This record gives sequence, structure tokens and C-alpha cells, in this order.
Amino acid sequence: MATQEETFKKLVSHCKEYGFVFPSSEIYDGLGAVYDYGQNGVELKNNIKRYWWDSMTLLHENIVGIDAAIFMHPTVWKASGHVDAFNDPLIDNRDSKKRYRADVLIEDQLGKIEEKINKEVEKAAKRFGESFDEAMFRQTNARVLEHQAHWDALHERYSKAMNASDLAELKQIILDEEIVCPISGTRNWTDVRQFNLMFQTEMGSTADGAMKIYLRPETAQGIFVNYLNVQKTGRMKIPFGIAQIGKAFRNEIVARQFVFRMREFEQMEMQFFVKPGTEMEWFKHWKEFRLKWHKALGLGDEKYRFHDHEKLAHYANAATDIEFLMPFGFKEVEGIHSRTNFDLSQHAKYSGKKIEYFDPELNESYTPYVIETSIGVDRMFLSIMCSSYKEETLEGGETRVVLSLPPVLAPVKACVMPLVKKDGLPEKAREVMDMLKFDFKTTYDEKDSIGKRYRRQDAIGTPFCITIDHDTLNDNCVTVRYRDTMAQDRVKIEDLHAMIQKAVDMKQVLRKLV
Ligand code: ATP
Repeated sequence: MATQEETFKKLVSHCKEYGFVFPSSEIYDGLGAVYDYGQNGVELKNNIKRYWWDSMTLLHENIVGIDAAIFMHPTVWKASGHVDAFNDPLIDNRDSKKRYRADVLIEDQLGKIEEKINKEVEKAAKRFGESFDEAMFRQTNARVLEHQAHWDALHERYSKAMNASDLAELKQIILDEEIVCPISGTRNWTDVRQFNLMFQTEMGSTADGAMKIYLRPETAQGIFVNYLNVQKTGRMKIPFGIAQIGKAFRNEIVARQFVFRMREFEQMEMQFFVKPGTEMEWFKHWKEFRLKWHKALGLGDEKYRFHDHEKLAHYANAATDIEFLMPFGFKEVEGIHSRTNFDLSQHAKYSGKKIEYFDPELNESYTPYVIETSIGVDRMFLSIMCSSYKEETLEGGETRVVLSLPPVLAPVKACVMPLVKKDGLPEKAREVMDMLKFDFKTTYDEKDSIGKRYRRQDAIGTPFCITIDHDTLNDNCVTVRYRDTMAQDRVKIEDLHAMIQKAVDMKQVLRKLV
């Protein structure tokens, strides 16, 4: 059995080999934590975006979309708090010269203690078999209690230090816990420093006094500054939402784990404006809706969990993450935040404009509260790839790599293959392709044996392979081979369109959400 780390490495090389994800500027040896999506990756990514966009803007008549610019007036980031507070605590190891996030080092340490507890529990479960009472064991076993006390104390100290932004204390925790650098194995740490994650650039020539501007670290602010525009021009009534998909940029200190943590990434965010006092109800509503959206793809309900935040951002009064079970553990894919009226009030203050809503029912004006759902396209992409990548051993000992992608998201829906490159079969295959290509992403392949061609399509997750053989010319039937079962059927050419449509129709997934 391959370890999870090995499987993840294989997935990363698979992504490259099959045109999903390439390192950026690869011929120049790449650029740290920046990636390009290839011919298949972009199709998958576009399908994810469409699923999200349609679930927001088609299924909700009170949600509309926008596409705001990446560059924004620099005061936006002052008002939002990003200039002053969008920091991560960084620490360097002097021996390896590697840089880490101090909070992540401590969280990993907490994770290790948790693992120790779980190992004790697992061992005991094996020993006691059926009669094992896990709750009782956790409450009474001396070693578990010792680890738990350690975890509680560390967790409390860490939360306090983070809430107070006490950098000296964070360093002290790292020293006291004897945390070592995973590369050098030493405890030769520098002090902890705050590091602002926003990228800066200049707009205008220096001669006219160039203005320092930022690449947006989240798409949300583009929505807040357009709140009045959309509300007025769309005659939107509260509650209503504004959705947006776009690039965001963060100068992440530690950028590992492939597209999980990138410096340039894409977000799908929806800000939902509500009446003050109703925000908890809507927070609950959006938590449920978003989880349903994830589960509807059928990747496995057990792979998701909520993680409620203990440390709330300065603007939030409730926050939770939807985590997905990646090969490297449960990790955040989406955040759902109750942002109060913080952002709109701040923009009102800094811009001097009145940013409110006149509620005709109450006959009064107020600053709406906001529930945000914010998901990273790239993390969603990764979670789908991780759960779809499979290495299977077939009868006869042969192996195949298959991406069992949800058919609605698959980059290519069907591959059309003439059995041989002669006897009019390629021409017939082209005819079939021409019939399908207006509705489905279809490819054509005539090279190598049919078996090899099937493997190539399995590796990119194509749900249907359609083979044209000599009989096709007489009976107008083709052989359809299914990706997951590898079963084959003889299907009439005229029925192909309906068959593919049924499997890849976005509507059937969207219907699960209403
Ligand atoms: P993390 O704690 O992992 O840094 P975050 O809590 O800062 O993430 P948010 O600010 O809530 O993330 O951003 C919303 C979503 O944007 C995240 O759930 C994630 O899917 C995505 N995201 C954030 N940072 C990155 C990144 N560097 N690369 C890829 N996706 C990201």
C-alpha cells in the first residue's frame, strides 16, 4: 500500500502528465507556489465555477453576480483592515534557512498530541475488541489524560497569544514545546515577526507621483464597494446576495501542498446582505446550503466536516470552515463567515458616503449585516482530484489509473475512436463528433490500440469512449465503453446525445440543492 504522501506525489505528477496543472514558467524552473492550469485542468476548473455560479445565480432569484477589477483604490484596504491586520506570524530556522508560520508550527504540534491520543485509543480498541468503551477509556486512561492535559494547556496558551498578537509568547511556546525544524532538525529559531500578505505595486508613472496599490487578497471587497451600485440598479430587496468569481493574491509565507496554498489563486465568494439581528439564522442557512452543494457531487459524505472558529477575525461574530479529507488530513476548502456590518460601516466611514438600506417595511434605514461564503476554486479542484484519483488492479493483473470524476465536471465528456484508421471509419467518427461537439467537449483519438486509448481517457476521467467499427457503417451503432465499470454497450448513434446528456447534465446536480 502506498502511503498517503506517495499517493499525493503521484497525483501531482499525474496532474502534470495529463495536462491538468503545470508549474508556472516551468522552462525557467517555475515560480514558488504559482501554477498554470493546462488543457484538461482549465475545463475541470471551468465546470466547477459553472456549478458554483449556477447554484448561486440561477437557483436564487435574489442573488446576482458581478466581476470587479483586481486593482482597487488603496483606501479600500485601509478600511477593510488588511493594511494593518492581514498578517501572518513568521519565523525562520537559522540552520535550514527555511521560513515557517509560527501558528502553523504550533498547530502541527497540537495535531501531533491529538495523534498520540488517537493511537492510544486505537491500540486499546484492538486489545478490548467488542467490549471497548471509548468514552470511558478517554476519561480514565492515565496516558490519554496526560496527553489531553498537555493539549488543553498548549491550546489555551496558543489561543491567548494569537488573540493578543503576542509574538514573543509565540516564540516562547515554540521553544518550550521543543519544536524542531523538519528540515534541519534544530531549534535554532529567529524571533517571530509579523508579515503582511498583500502584494504591492505602483500605478501611474513615478513622475506624477505614483500611487501604491495592492493586488486584492480577497474578492469580497469588490462586492462591498459595489453594494450600493447593485442594490440601486438591480432594485434589490434585503435579503439579497452578490456573487463573484475572481483571482486573489496572497504572499503566503509557506507555500507547499501544490494548489492548496498558492500565491495567486481564485475565489468564489458570495456576500449575503441581511437585516441586523437575523444574521445567525442566515449563517445557519448558508452553512447547510454550502455543505449540501459539496455533498451533491457525490465524492463521499464522510469526507466533509465543519470546523468552527474559536479565534474570530476582527470583523466576524461567527465563522466556520468546511473541511475536506485530503491525503494530508482534513483541510479548509471553504469559509462561511458572519461579517456583521463591519465592512459596509468601514467603507461608509472611509469614503464619507452613506452606505445603508432603506427598509420599506420598517420604514427605516440600517447598515445591513453580511454572511459570506468563500471558497477557493483551486482547493475545490484539489479535493475533487484527490478523491477521484484511483489506481486499480484489473483482472489479469494489469493496472489502470482512473479519475472517477463526477461526469458533470469531467473535462472531456466523450472520446470518439475509429477502430482502425481506414475503410471510412475515421470519416464516420468525425461525423459522430460533429453531431456531439456543439453540446459536449469531445475529443478524437485514432492512435494506438483501443486498450491504450481507453487508458488515456481513464487517466483524464472521460466518462464515455465511443468506438466506430466496420459494423457501424451498416447498422449505425457504436460501442460505448463506460469509464467506471469498463462495461461496453452497443448504442445507436442517434441515441448518443441523449445518453451523454443524461449523465453530464448540470441540472440533475442542481436539483439536489432545492
Ligand atoms: P488558510 O487558513 O488556509 O490560510 P484562510 O482562512 O486565510 O485560509 P480565507 O481568507 O477564509 O482563507 O479564504 C477563503 C477561501 O479561499 C479558503 O477557504 C480557501 O479555499 C481559499 N484560499 C485562501 N488562501 C488560499 C491560497 N493561498 N491558495 C489557495 N486557496 C486559498
